[in-house]
Amino acid sequence: MTTKLIDGKAFAEKLRADIAQRVAKLKADNGVTPGLAVVLVGNNPASEVYVRNKAKQTKEVGMNSYEFTLPENTSEADLLAKVNELNNDKNVHGILVQLPLPKHINEESVINAISPAKDADGFHVINAGKLATGQDGLVPCTPLGCLMMLKDHFGDLSGKHAVIIGRSNIVGKPMAALLLKESCTVTIAHSKTVDLSAMVKTADIVVAAVGKPEMVKGSWIKSGAVVIDVGINRLPLEGGKSKLVGDVATSECIGIASAITPVPGGVGPMTIACLLENTYRACVAALK
Ligand code: NAD
Repeated sequence: MTTKLIDGKAFAEKLRADIAQRVAKLKADNGVTPGLAVVLVGNNPASEVYVRNKAKQTKEVGMNSYEFTLPENTSEADLLAKVNELNNDKNVHGILVQLPLPKHINEESVINAISPAKDADGFHVINAGKLATGQDGLVPCTPLGCLMMLKDHFGDLSGKHAVIIGRSNIVGKPMAALLLKESCTVTIAHSKTVDLSAMVKTADIVVAAVGKPEMVKGSWIKSGAVVIDVGINRLPLEGGKSKLVGDVATSECIGIASAITPVPGGVGPMTIACLLENTYRACVAALK
């Protein structure tokens, strides 16, 4: 069995080029430029890198990027006021508050204060409810990117058995809802699942979103299955260096899986591209 490495970087580049064309057309036809506002509270170094990348890629596709960095000790009331200001700003079509937030701020309250129509991350309870009931809304970026790659690989997903490992609101649950909408048979596994390896062995599609380095072994994978590795884990190496690995022991799956997303270069690049896609979609919906 030849195992295809799904090139998320190239896929994301293609998607961004397509978004750039649509943005240019929107400007020409409607005189509107989609705008994404990103709010960062505090100075978590990883979050700063994410926010910088998001802003750079937003500008590269021709959208407006508005970045706000608030101090670590910002009160929840002040952050909610900022969100409200952005909700009322006509130039802003997508709003993202970078997570995690400092401990004194309730993340749920902040997420649910974002206008559902501008909820670029797709985390608002209204958008989660729309996804759960099969209605159109803004969908969380990481599972949206995974779905795009799966559809590109398979075409029709109908009848496939998907095992999703992880039940978070950000990845596992929305991934399950998206695959159910594509008529997959969906199993959600989690930390209390009994005999996970046997469960995974029955899957045509495995989505691993756990946060445990190389937990999913090659021997768990059914011959010909497609493996989507969402995990991003930093493993320390000698000399103070580190390397990124996923939740799947990728090298063990070569020759067994028909396709697999590598880490890095698989799911990761698609996440920001889907954030831009959501901002574009929110802008188009606002014109109606
Ligand atoms: P989370 O911690 O919120 O959820 C982890 C899930 O894994 C939980 O539902 C838990 O039940 C399950 N789990 C834990 N131990 C398990 C075990 N032994 N067996 C089976 N299930 C187990 O994490 P998350 O936010 O969903 O993220 C998961 C991973 O994906 C992390 O590595 C994260 O960094 C990564 N991630 C990547 C992207 C991306 O853009 N590529 C985006 C979001 C998250």
